[in-house]
Amino acid sequence: MELTGRTAVVTGGSRGIGRAVCLELAARGANVVLCYAGSEAAAQETAAACEQRGAKALALRCDVSDAQAVKAMMKQAVSAFGRIDILVNNAGITRDGFLLMMKEADFDAVLDTNLKGTYLCLRAVVHTMMKQGYGRIVNISSVTGLRGNAGQANYAASKAGVIGLTKSAARELASKNITVNAVAPGFIETDMTAALPQENRQALLAQIPAGRLGQVQEVARAVAFLASDDAAYITGQVLAVDGGMAM
Ligand code: NAP
Repeated sequence: MELTGRTAVVTGGSRGIGRAVCLELAARGANVVLCYAGSEAAAQETAAACEQRGAKALALRCDVSDAQAVKAMMKQAVSAFGRIDILVNNAGITRDGFLLMMKEADFDAVLDTNLKGTYLCLRAVVHTMMKQGYGRIVNISSVTGLRGNAGQANYAASKAGVIGLTKSAARELASKNITVNAVAPGFIETDMTAALPQENRQALLAQIPAGRLGQVQEVARAVAFLASDDAAYITGQVLAVDGGMAM
C-alpha cells in the first residue's frame, strides 16, 4: 500500500472530513495520530476504525490553538511512531454572523482555531520533517476562503489565510522535500453543514454545478493523493473539491 510505514497526524479526526481522512490514510497503510477538542468517544471510535483497517492509531485530546498542547501532541506522536511524515491540518470551527453583528470573540475564536491552529501544528512538525528530509502537509481551506461568503467573514478570512500560509510555507520548505498544499472543499455533508437551515441549503445547491453536496470520502481521497509520493512535485497548490463551485 502506498502509505505503508508512514505516520500521519490528522487534527480534528473525531468527526466529519477529518475522520474520513484518518480512515483513508489508514486504509492506505499509514499509522494515524488524530486529535480532537472534546469528542473523546468519537475520537476513540475513529482510532478503532483505523485499526480495523490494519493501521496503528492514537487519539489525543489537543486544542490546536494552544501552542503547548500542540507541541506535546507532536512529541507524543514521535515517541509512539518515531516520525511524522504527513500532517493534515483539518480542525476547524464556524461562528457565523453578519459583519455588523459579529462579536469580536467569535472572530478571534475562528481565527485562533482555523488559522493559528494550522500555523502552530505546521511549526511543530517542521523540525521533525526537516530532519527526516521528507514531509507532506495538507491544510484544509474552503471554497469560502476562495470566494468569500456573506455571514462568514471570520471563517472566510481564516480560510483565505490558510491559503497564504500554505503558499509561503511551500516556498520555504520545497527544497527540504516537504510539500505543503491546501484542499478547498465546497459544501460537504458533515455536522458543520447539517446545521444549515433548509432554505439556505436550497440556495446552496443552486450554486453547485454538480447539483449535490460532496461526501467526506471525496475530500479524503484528494488529501490522500496530496499526502502520497504521487504528488511529490506538487506544492503550494489549492485543490478545490467542490463540485465546480469555485472555478
Ligand atoms: P466538523 O464535522 O464540525 O468536525 C470538526 C472537527 O474539528 C472535529 O473533529 C472537532 O473535534 C475538531 N476541532 C474543532 N476545534 C478544534 C480545536 N480547537 N482543536 C482540535 N480539534 C478541533 O467539521 P467538518 O465539516 O468535518 O470540517 C473539517 C474541516 O473542513 C474544517 O477545517 C472545515 O472548516 C473544513 N471545511 C468543511 C466544509 C464542509 O462543508 N463541511 C467545507 C469546507 C471546508 P471535536 O469532535 O472534539 O469537537
